[in-house]
This record gives sequence, structure tokens and C-alpha cells, in this order.
Amino acid sequence: MKKVILIKNGELVLKGLNRSTFEDMLIKNMKRRLMSLGTFSFTKAQSTIMAEPEDEDIDFDEAVERIGKIFGIVAFSVAGVTEKDLEKIKSAVMEFLGEELRSVKTFKVNAKRSDKKFQYKSPEICREVGGHILSNIPSLRVDVHNPELTVTVEVRDKYVFVHGNQIKGAGGMPVGSSGRAALLLSGGIDSPVAGYMMAKRGLVLTAIHFAAPPYTSPRAELKVRTLASIVSKYSGRINFAVVPFTEIQEHIKDNCPEELFTIIMRRLMMKVALRIAERDKCQALITGESLGQVASQTIGAIACTDAVATMPVFRPCIGMDKEEIITIARKIGTFETSLEPYEDCCTVFTPKHPRTRPILENVEQAENAVGFEEMIERAVSGTRFCSVE
Ligand code: ATP
Ligand code: MG
Repeated sequence: MKKVILIKNGELVLKGLNRSTFEDMLIKNMKRRLMSLGTFSFTKAQSTIMAEPEDEDIDFDEAVERIGKIFGIVAFSVAGVTEKDLEKIKSAVMEFLGEELRSVKTFKVNAKRSDKKFQYKSPEICREVGGHILSNIPSLRVDVHNPELTVTVEVRDKYVFVHGNQIKGAGGMPVGSSGRAALLLSGGIDSPVAGYMMAKRGLVLTAIHFAAPPYTSPRAELKVRTLASIVSKYSGRINFAVVPFTEIQEHIKDNCPEELFTIIMRRLMMKVALRIAERDKCQALITGESLGQVASQTIGAIACTDAVATMPVFRPCIGMDKEEIITIARKIGTFETSLEPYEDCCTVFTPKHPRTRPILENVEQAENAVGFEEMIERAVSGTRFCSVE
């Protein structure tokens, strides 16, 4: 039987006039994400978008898996397509949902008749289809209030769709609807989660990773690229930038007070990231910081870091416990990779006693005494870009 995916979009319905633009953006994202599986055609109708495979041999399960990760979709269902004929509807229901119906104890039928010319009204469709199901599987019971499986029959202009329970979508807003931001992506647990959360609010991502070879290995960089690739299953294509950070870090180590290493490093990361972000037309930075998690994430340290920022810095994990961040990391599939034991440039020169209450003036003084401007230039111009999808 021919199958389609019926997509219910999310907050888009709240967007009034912009709705159509948002839907078009969602469709564009879906097309791109499904492209490698084959061609799908998309039709908008009654707050639903229908995705219809044009090729016979499309991997439908994979398509469903991918749709489940696209932001801007509240719920979707896989529907069997049949004709406007009651007997055909009945057999389509058994063919398409028979197995699922046999695996539950209670069900109900829900009919939607948007084509008012169809000769059976909704209650009649429910009665007829429900009766047919019961005669095939007499052990089933109808429960109109709390059924395990709701069989939906939608009679539309051209076709009739039959489907079971809706599948929960990834929620959020279509990627692209909020612009672009640069994610500072380490190999840790938090920053991939932060990227996922902000992509969910409609941002396209540029990922910036600071590497400090030979202190950090190519394998460590590969790990971060793998993380970016997992996040991209949700966010779509990510511009991935690797910044050579060794020179800056060595200069900090040799010339700055040890207790300020971390805070100065973070400010320099921000300065470099801001340049790259501007070049890539980003309007904000994103980090995985969580208040109080480590010395560089106290309110005072964050204030010192933010003092260099010339665009908003989004920190979606700021109020989350590690456990909560880990729950999301597991859900989106980055946790295992984040646990791989490769060194990060942050951990290369960690001071024994970092300042938890750095004084901005002292930090600025220490930085100015070294003069990092040219090194920042070199880090920016030495940055390598690739595209991760
Ligand atoms: P994560 O788990 O994301 O690594 P963390 O708890 O280890 O975070 P820090 O190492 O202090 O925290 O880093 C705080 C934030 O700074 C990270 O979430 C990330 O956004 C950014 N960051 C740290 N190291 C790097 C790096 N090597 N490249 C890019 N960004 C980094
Ligand atoms: Mg880290």
C-alpha cells in the first residue's frame, strides 16, 4: 500500500502572517534532510504537510527516523493511502494497522471528513470501520476515552488516509527561522547539548572548535567533528571551524599570572570566536556553560568573559544540573562520544588554583601586558573550515 507521512507543525500556527514562510522553511529543511533517500513531494493542507515519496524503493523507516529529528514538527504520522470507498477503507485499515491492532487490547476509530461530498458522515465511518475491526479481531475492546490505539481515517480531497497513533516530533522551530549563531564546541558533554537546544529554537549553527596541537591530537578533533555530525542530524548542515589555538595558549602560560590562565583563555576564545562568527554572519555565540560547574563558570568569571562579547552569548545549559544535561545528551545520542577520553585544549594548562572571583581590571591588565592582537589575527586566519552533515 502506498504510504505518506503527515506532518503537524508546531509553533508555526502561532505565527499568523508568517506562517507560510515558516512552513516553506520547514519543507525546505525536510527536503534537504530526506534528499539522500530519494525524492519526496510536499503538499500543504489544513495545518498538515504531506510528504509523499516519489520513488518506489525509498527506505521509509529511515525517512521516519529523520523526520523525527527535524525541528518545527510537533507530531507526525505514517499513513496508508486508499480510495474514497468504504470497503477499500476497511481493508486498508486491516492491511495497514492489523498488526498494531493485534498487539493492543483497546482501540477507537476517529474519522475526519474534510471532503463533505463523501457519502458517509464521520460517525458512520467510525461505526463501520470499528465494526469491521472487531469482526476481524474479536478480542479487542472499544474504549473511547483512553484507547491504546486510535485508528484515524481522514477523508480528504483526493485520497483517504488511515493511520494509527501520532508520533511525537522534535518540537521547536524550523532551523533557519531564527538566523545563525556560532557554537563553541568542545569535546565535552555540555556544548553539543547547548547546540542542540539552540538549533531547536530555529538557529543555524556554525561550530567553532579550539585545538592546540601537539598538546591535542587529531583524534581529539575527530571526536568533536563526530559530535558536530550527531548534532547536525537535528540542526542540519553545520559549518565546522577548527581554530589553531596553541600559540595563544603558550603565551598565556608563559606570560600571565597562573590563577588567571583559565579566565584569560576563555576571553581569548571569545575574541577569536567573535571574529569567526562575524565572518560567518552569526548574530550570537552559544556555549555549554552551567552556573557554578567549574571555576570559569562562576558569576564573576562569566562577567569577565562577557566583558569582551560584542554579540549576545546564549548559554542554554546555564540553569541545568549535570544530570539534566546528561539526560539530553543521551537522548540526542552525543553522550557516548563525549565520554571518549581525548584531551581538550582547556585541560592542557589548567592552573592548580584558578580564581573564582577574578577582577576584570587585573585580567585586562594581564592581557594588555602581553598584547594578543596579532596572535588573534593569526588564529583567525589559520582557521580551517569544513561542512558537517
Ligand atoms: P563541555 O562539556 O561542553 O566541554 P565543560 O563543562 O567542560 O563544557 P569548559 O571546559 O569550562 O566546560 O567549557 C565551557 C564552554 O566553553 C564549553 O561548553 C564550550 O562551549 C566552550 N569550550 C571549551 N573548550 C572549548 C574548545 N576546545 N573549543 C571550543 N569551545 C570550547
Ligand atoms: Mg570542556
